Amino acid sequence: MNRTNFKIGYGYDVHRLAKGRKLILGGVEIPHKVGLDGHSDADVLLHAVCDALLGAAGFEDIGHRFPNTDPKYKNISSLILLKETMKLLSLKKWKVGNIDCMLILEEPKIYKHIAQMKKNISAIIKTKEISIKATTSEGLGFVGQKKGCVCSAVALIYK
Ligand code: MG
Repeated sequence: MNRTNFKIGYGYDVHRLAKGRKLILGGVEIPHKVGLDGHSDADVLLHAVCDALLGAAGFEDIGHRFPNTDPKYKNISSLILLKETMKLLSLKKWKVGNIDCMLILEEPKIYKHIAQMKKNISAIIKTKEISIKATTSEGLGFVGQKKGCVCSAVALIYK
């Protein structure tokens, strides 16, 4: 019987906001007074996407695959981590059906950058079925206090 195999995965990530860092989301550098802190470029959105894809395909999480103790990942573009993630999925013949991301940050507004983020991601995961949504935390908690940024993502893969 020729039956399509589906798996879903979930990813979640948090990064601190810090002065002197770039704000890079979905591979787009967004002009802002603070940026995301981390070992790589701290692209919280792509990290959540990588973890959703890795989880769906049954791989270990992003921290295991691309450790923040490894100098080769220092300041690396997370688009490269997404490419590496897709190489792993391809080894098992998985393709991406769709992804849906929810970014939670207080500022700045990112809607005008979403088209470019989708373009960056779709070039790597080979689907245009990408949703990127954003909301604020209404001033509550560490996101509301502008100390950090959260992103969660789900992914459907198939073969
Ligand atoms: Mg991260």
